[in-house]
Amino acid sequence: MTVQFAFDNSYARLPERFFAQLAPTPVAEPKLIRVNSALAEQLGIDPAFLASADGIAVLSGNRVPEGAASVALAYAGHQFGHFNPQLGDGRAILLGEVVGKDGLRRDIQLKGAGPTPFSRRGDGRAALGPVLREYLVSEAMAALGLPTTRALAAVTTGEDVVRETMLPGGVLTRVASSHIRVGTFQYFAARGDNEAVTLLADHAIARHYPEAAREAKPYLAFLRMVAERQASLIARWLSIGFIHGVMNTDNCSVAGETIDYGPCAFMDEYHPGTVFSSIDQNARYAYGNQPSIGLWNVSRLAETLLPLIDPDQDKALEAAKEVLGVFGPRFHGEYAALLRRKIGLAQTQADDDELAQDLLKRMMANNADFTLTFRRLGEGDGAAARDLFLDVTAFDAWHGRWLARLASEDASPEARRTAMRAINPAFIPRNHRVEAALNAAIERDDFGPFEELLAVLSRPYDDQPGMERDAEPPAESERVRQTFCGT
Ligand code: AMP
Ligand code: MG
Repeated sequence: MTVQFAFDNSYARLPERFFAQLAPTPVAEPKLIRVNSALAEQLGIDPAFLASADGIAVLSGNRVPEGAASVALAYAGHQFGHFNPQLGDGRAILLGEVVGKDGLRRDIQLKGAGPTPFSRRGDGRAALGPVLREYLVSEAMAALGLPTTRALAAVTTGEDVVRETMLPGGVLTRVASSHIRVGTFQYFAARGDNEAVTLLADHAIARHYPEAAREAKPYLAFLRMVAERQASLIARWLSIGFIHGVMNTDNCSVAGETIDYGPCAFMDEYHPGTVFSSIDQNARYAYGNQPSIGLWNVSRLAETLLPLIDPDQDKALEAAKEVLGVFGPRFHGEYAALLRRKIGLAQTQADDDELAQDLLKRMMANNADFTLTFRRLGEGDGAAARDLFLDVTAFDAWHGRWLARLASEDASPEARRTAMRAINPAFIPRNHRVEAALNAAIERDDFGPFEELLAVLSRPYDDQPGMERDAEPPAESERVRQTFCGT
């Protein structure tokens, strides 16, 4: 038999207490929804194989490919601020790692692959809706240029899962730089297993932050680098109106990728208090809270690393606190730079942040659509954004100020518009369009709208004539008020 995956399973070479080894639970009647051919090629996997009967058997968990690790990973985590010492992959199995054509190592994981020793009361399965949702939104994030896990394939299982109602089941094949979470460190730290914390930190450094190993204090450097990547990631989230929805420490990737697309959503009208997740009762993970939660999460990582940083715990704490001080400035610097680019400023002037914040304030007061406001500012002289404001004079006042500021730039209007179109997407996965695509698949077995939306979202910065419906905010009757994690 030819080898279909050139697995090199570094995580599975860690001690046994890092995971449980088991095969996925087979499903009744797997059917392919789709294979992400471009991603497969990048990983050195033949997309035609994935789409074949043998490939579908692998993607559904019915056949474990040669060389696979087939492990469920152990991790813990703070969920909505409360620590749970044992979570782990309750419905996911890591098939293994491959090194892609780009030389980068990536995990290939089946999500919805059946119960594991970490399932607690769960059934180990995923419903089709959340599978399609993660597929759409993670691929949209990748096309938008954000660090994210990817979707390699999705299948239906031919089995129902029991949620509030019976729903068709699915399996998502997820690709990630790794599945090491802040919660993975917490799992071992909570057990006082500093040997494991050290092994895990060394593994994460070798894999994601090799430059940290060359610093005088590698674990402190690792903490700083994780903090910096989280801060940049969250700045990028805010720049496109993304709300993760469940920023628990078990959903916080040490590699700095967006991971675990549950009740995530993109905001339509700009408001920092926006929350969609049905389980986020206290708005802990609201759009505007994400930076402070990011720092909170990285602080939980810092706690686990203290014994590695310095034998004197007071000194370790002081050093860690100092390192965590990078988070705020890094976030604010990147966020401000992104906002400047979003309003088309190529040069930096003292009042730029205030100018951008003034726009946001006016957008908030006037229910202006976040995505369309910035996109339209990049058309002509930007006046097309005016109609998005309830009180158009609120826009006009800002617009005059902005035009005056633009006049002091060297860049040509053409160059500015090109730059603005490259950072302000026309298309985001709007909740109502995502839901319409999911409903067609679930209720009518019609995957056409899913495929169409996926294609549109693969080119978010291009105008796509005929696809205006996917660019527009929802009509009042289409508005989605809540999203669900569907687990
Ligand atoms: P999540 O909210 O998806 O990040 O999951 C939190 C925890 O619950 C993780 O440990 C998951 O593996 C587990 N989990 C979620 N859904 C299920 C399920 N259907 N069966 C078993 N475990 C699950
Ligand atoms: Mg999770």
